[in-house]
Amino acid sequence: MSHFQGTIKSKLPTTGTSIFTVMSALAREHNAINLSQGFPDFECSAELVSLVNQYMKKGLNQYAPMQGILPLRETIAQKMEELYSAKYDPETEVNITAGGTQAIYAAIAATVQEGDEVIVFEPAYDCYVPAIELNGGIPVFVQLKAPDYSIDWNEVKKVVNQHTRMIMINTPHNPTGAVMTAKDMQQLEKITRGIDIVVVSDEVYEHIIFDGSEHQSVARFPKLAERTFIIFSFGKSYHTTGWKMGYVLAPANLMAEFRKVHQFMVFCANSPIQYALADYMKNKDAYLSLNSFYQKKRDYFNNLVKDSKFKLRPSSGSYFQSLDYSAISNEKDTDFAVRLTKEYGVASVPISVFYHKPIDNKLLRFCFAKKEDTLEQAAERLMKIN
Ligand code: GLN
Repeated sequence: MSHFQGTIKSKLPTTGTSIFTVMSALAREHNAINLSQGFPDFECSAELVSLVNQYMKKGLNQYAPMQGILPLRETIAQKMEELYSAKYDPETEVNITAGGTQAIYAAIAATVQEGDEVIVFEPAYDCYVPAIELNGGIPVFVQLKAPDYSIDWNEVKKVVNQHTRMIMINTPHNPTGAVMTAKDMQQLEKITRGIDIVVVSDEVYEHIIFDGSEHQSVARFPKLAERTFIIFSFGKSYHTTGWKMGYVLAPANLMAEFRKVHQFMVFCANSPIQYALADYMKNKDAYLSLNSFYQKKRDYFNNLVKDSKFKLRPSSGSYFQSLDYSAISNEKDTDFAVRLTKEYGVASVPISVFYHKPIDNKLLRFCFAKKEDTLEQAAERLMKIN
């Protein structure tokens, strides 16, 4: 196609295609086992699918209210009270979104002004920084401390100033699998006290946390929750990442601003799925059983590769396990991830891409949200590498 001759100044000059798309495409091209992009390769609940189907057949195929349907928002508010003793008003403080990424974007777009600084911990999930930059914000990076990827709150204190408008946190953490503790939340509460800082807390892996730890949602900390957008994902909790359904919670004043943006991004999220989820969420076991379901997968995978040349890093939550390949190769992690896909048939994600200036610790991220059979085949290939 011919294209017009003018110049378009890129708003994201250094941004390429998301690593998840790139690695999944490479996996397909080389017929590799895809442990790169985080998504389950097993079925979601047949009951949930049939509920969606039923609501479609009933004719609930038109727009939902912009905020999401009330019964779903009510069920979410009830869940927040039961799990985290947090009170959110379903009318004014809960909103259904087209996935976590859309919720994060809208929260940033609603609150970050030109020149505002946003503190981002690195490695960081890939959608944060572009959303900040597109809205005129300036990301300010604080490195998580290896080897456990904990937050050094003294570092945070050093970078907070009168331009800081937002701090973004993520627990359980993608890509490292680190989790934040109650102490972390108390520190964050202290640092933000009395300052106009909004928090975005990406908690999409709230139900995927291991070894008996309890998810420390911001919602458990009222003084912090009063300045926070908390982001959740139905995709992660119900094995339906392709449905792109999530939700956001925030106090009414923040939510009012969120909705002004949300209504013009997507207007509303998929309606028959909302009706289905409102019913299906009544089955609490479906999400309460996820910790042990995914812990088994993590342990299964780790056990299969523990005698390989890869070194296991701790994973306390999320879909992901990091493996250190420094005993195998000196290659850059991006090169090694490509070679692993092409030559050995296992796709992963190199961790350096989650930094604004790549930090290469010779780590690859593997998604274990897969059938045992998939994990076995991948492990068998990884075991052969020396
Ligand atoms: N959250 C998924 C991951 O970390 C990917 C989502 C996406 O492809 N954008 O792999």
